[in-house]
Amino acid sequence: MRYPTHLLKVIDILRRLPGVGSKSAERFAFQLINWKKEHLEEMAAIIQGIPAHLHHCQECGCLIGDTLCPFCVEARRSSGFLCILASPRDAFAIEDTHEYHGLYHVLGGLISPLDGFGPEKLQLEKLKTRLKTLPLKEVVIALDSTLEGDTTALYLKKELDPILIPQGVSTSRLAFGLPMGSSLDYVDGGTLARALSSRAKF
Ligand SMILES: [Zn+2]
Repeated sequence: MRYPTHLLKVIDILRRLPGVGSKSAERFAFQLINWKKEHLEEMAAIIQGIPAHLHHCQECGCLIGDTLCPFCVEARRSSGFLCILASPRDAFAIEDTHEYHGLYHVLGGLISPLDGFGPEKLQLEKLKTRLKTLPLKEVVIALDSTLEGDTTALYLKKELDPILIPQGVSTSRLAFGLPMGSSLDYVDGGTLARALSSRAKF
């Protein structure tokens, strides 16, 4: 016996979420059937409100609500730091560390030719304009420690060095190393090699 058509639609839409397979989608869908009508309406209204209430800042690409961008304020501008990120979500992760108080620039992805994401999708013109006009001391490249992250970081270095070096702006990349609380024999070779090559003074 097939599920009713609308239930199939609910399952299908839930499956579009990352990490949700067929079985989980079915479980969620059967849960939703038991929800009160007003709770379903509330959920639908909140999701429907996403385009109206969540935006990407025109300047830095970070995710913002209905207010001015909290990441583009003067105090951050005058810090002299600009951190380059792949996704708007990364800015929140860095904010949670309370270690960084500078500006951000969101690329919107990492170079991945297999996924059709070429260097042109990084829209570097906008970043280059910012780098030429902002009072900077250091640009921090905070990208994933993956093949795509490495490729993008190297590409950025090649493209941005001609702008940054004459201005005396230094470039850094996040250090990659051992996860907190890990013992050496549990860490894979690639991580250990990275940790060794980016070792810091002690
Ligand atoms: Zn902004």
